[in-house]
Amino acid sequence: MSSDSNCIFCRIAAGQIPANKVYEDDEIVVFHDIHPWAPVHILMVPKAHIVSMADVTAEHAPLLGRMMALSPRLMRELGVTDGFRHVINTGRDGSQEVMHLHMHVMGGPRPWAKG
Ligand code: AMP
Ligand code: ZN
Repeated sequence: MSSDSNCIFCRIAAGQIPANKVYEDDEIVVFHDIHPWAPVHILMVPKAHIVSMADVTAEHAPLLGRMMALSPRLMRELGVTDGFRHVINTGRDGSQEVMHLHMHVMGGPRPWAKG
């Protein structure tokens, strides 16, 4: 599996940097965003170092499908009962700050800090 030792999300995936994890399997790690916009704000991250959605091809479809399909279960487990929002930022114009693919999933009662 590809990994970049300078990448913060690779290092979280490898257990080298602590994170408040809510789920982990062979391919995916999920943890709370350190600067949450919403009462519940998690980041769903493939363990492989995929830089962004711009690098995604058909071979990644099962992985992305698993991430999407896992999100409702995790939001339920985190007590989100009235809807949630998925956001994926891609590249500079997409306001991506961490250059390792991740999906924000946010929920909980409004108002939110942003989003
Ligand atoms: P973006 O790349 O703009 O989609 O967002 C990156 C997100 O990663 C931001 O919401 C940050 O708050 C979050 N973030 C950055 N470093 C960490 C970290 N060490 N643990 C948890 N969340 C982080
Ligand atoms: Zn990475």
